Amino acid sequence: MHSPMFRKMALIGLGLIGSSLSHVARRNGLVEKIAGAAPSESTRLKAIELNLVDEVFEDSAQAVEDADLVILCIPVGVCGRVAEAIGASLSSGAIVTDVGSVKSEVLAMVSPHIPEGVSFVPGHPIAGTEESGPEAGFAELFQGRWCILTPDRQTDPASVEKVKTFWEACGSSVDIMTAEHHDMVLAITSHLPHLIAYNIVGTASDLEEVTRSEVIKYSASGFRDFTRLAASDPTMWRDIFLNNKDAVLEMLGRFSEDLSSLQRAIRWSDGDALFDMFTRTREIRRRIIDAGQDISEPDFGRVTRSSIKTENN
Ligand code: NAP
Repeated sequence: MHSPMFRKMALIGLGLIGSSLSHVARRNGLVEKIAGAAPSESTRLKAIELNLVDEVFEDSAQAVEDADLVILCIPVGVCGRVAEAIGASLSSGAIVTDVGSVKSEVLAMVSPHIPEGVSFVPGHPIAGTEESGPEAGFAELFQGRWCILTPDRQTDPASVEKVKTFWEACGSSVDIMTAEHHDMVLAITSHLPHLIAYNIVGTASDLEEVTRSEVIKYSASGFRDFTRLAASDPTMWRDIFLNNKDAVLEMLGRFSEDLSSLQRAIRWSDGDALFDMFTRTREIRRRIIDAGQDISEPDFGRVTRSSIKTENN
């Protein structure tokens, strides 16, 4: 248990990330009071029922009054509009941060609405699931994960330090980099994999010669792993692709070139090229496990030894 770092935390958006922040802040005693805001009544009622907030508002501007920490936990595409709506109600000395999966556009959209005496520290926890909404959150979501902060030259260093300490108290390790670098790194580690997953699942569902029931029946052969990514929230992902265009298109270009080489290797029966590539990629998986970012259980830990036995019987 920590002593509270902030008097009042305002969570704008009470979905997976907002509700997880509430759980961990309450569990670890990081804030004295939590206010929340969400447009839909069902989310606001759920947030009260789950004790995510002490008070909740439809109007984000009301939620931020007297708050010394404001966290935007909303889709990237509405960050500018929400910052404009809350700007005049922010208290002097407050810190505003966010959790958006894209950083350059968010910095550009939010900064103009932050008044003198208030700091904006852009952030992105590299933690999530394919679930959304206030019931999806849990206190351990950020445990052992990275959180990236992307301050620019104008950002107050003391506020960056405070946001860093907050994320560390939520169980995360913190890295600091430029917004542009973040967007390039995330384009390859997150945005492109999701785009590929959306595409492959879309292609499979359009196939006419293979029935949908066969796609589902034989999904454990690989397809299933893409469906988890492709089940992610449509609003969130639409906004990510529309707001990180340059980096995603750059990575997509490289990906397409590499895919063409694989196509060529298959066409010309170049087994050595395929083997070398697959050996290199296997090594990446090993390094992810060594870094504690996944487990080495068979089938990502989904299948226990006894169920493997049952499946094989
Ligand atoms: P979510 O579960 O869909 O929740 C989004 C929340 O934002 C909802 O409570 C929604 O309210 C609220 N909202 C939408 N428009 C709003 C507005 N104009 N004003 C105030 N609130 C508004 O989404 P999430 O997964 O928590 O994602 C939130 C942010 O975190 C996104 O920017 C995303 O890029 C980032 N992020 C997500 C993940 C992940 O894996 N999900 C990981 C890291 C970062 P209603 O419920 O009333 O619609």
